[in-house]
Amino acid sequence: MISTLPETMTASVLTGPKTLTVEQVPLPAAASDEVLVKIAAVGVCGSDTHYYRHGRIGEFVVEGPLILGHECSGTIAAVGSEVSDSRIGERVAIEPQRNCRRCRECRAGRYNLCPYMEFYATPPIDGAFAQYATIRTEFAHRVPDSLSDEAAALLEPLSVAITTMRKAGIVPGSSVLIAGAGPIGIICAQTAKAFGAAEIIVTDLVAERRERALRYGATRVIDPTETDIATAGLDVNAFVDASGSPRAVSSGIMAVRPAGTAVLVGLGSSEMTLPIEHIQNLEINVTGIFRYTDTWPAAIHLVASGQVDLDSLVTGRFDIDHVDAALESDQDPDSLKSIVYPERTAS
Ligand SMILES: [Zn+2]
Ligand SMILES: [Zn+2]
Repeated sequence: MISTLPETMTASVLTGPKTLTVEQVPLPAAASDEVLVKIAAVGVCGSDTHYYRHGRIGEFVVEGPLILGHECSGTIAAVGSEVSDSRIGERVAIEPQRNCRRCRECRAGRYNLCPYMEFYATPPIDGAFAQYATIRTEFAHRVPDSLSDEAAALLEPLSVAITTMRKAGIVPGSSVLIAGAGPIGIICAQTAKAFGAAEIIVTDLVAERRERALRYGATRVIDPTETDIATAGLDVNAFVDASGSPRAVSSGIMAVRPAGTAVLVGLGSSEMTLPIEHIQNLEINVTGIFRYTDTWPAAIHLVASGQVDLDSLVTGRFDIDHVDAALESDQDPDSLKSIVYPERTAS
């Protein structure tokens, strides 16, 4: 199956603060151990919007033109010299990272913590708001036909949720408190249910978002302005912060039972005040998560088996000429997840 590849492709390139230009750029070439994927769908993530608005996330600073987008799926269009031709035509979900394979963390099986990691849409590595992207063959995960292009792209945030549940130690019968009913909070609620959690409590300031959480696995929702989470006697095994709010984090930790775990996922403040005595006296494990290691097989299973629904999270669809609108869609309170289709143009 040899198809002729174009020499250039259309890409949406971040060229300055809040400035995207749709350009023809050279087609990326697959290295010997890589595949070239024709991109079908790309989810918009809060980190993409953050780079678009602020040009940096912590120590990662955009210093040159950058293609954003890291939640993506597509079809293998070409393979490098070491990869079997039989992969051409496979529908895949991209795990958007390239670790070094040699460092201490890679050897320990924690490749998400590889200090030499090259990650899509993290400067200076280009992402997937483009017609094609390359990825090492083992990180192009074959997906069953039953998964839509959108669901295959959203296996990336699902991977964040799976990593979170693993870190939180969620097992059948667990109780978990999740702060924030945005995309990650909603996917975490579904994943907690799939992991067997018996009690899934979700907090959010917005009534509509709490209602939505109830449709995605929450067994109870709480308005934190009405109920003081710290003193409500929730006594959960695990707390997951998907809000980034310092107040939600400190009160959520107070709701954790002895020897329980708090996982900080939300981005917000780089420094905050924590209830240290509670953490010390109850031996609470407080940790963060940074991307994921070995989650795509589990993510594919959870969606293919119907335990996690990603398709219904999609609230906005955009072509390659309107990536700016996709990145700004978080301003709309009804928006949950926007998808960019690089093959589609406005004209
Ligand atoms: Zn993401
Ligand atoms: Zn490494």
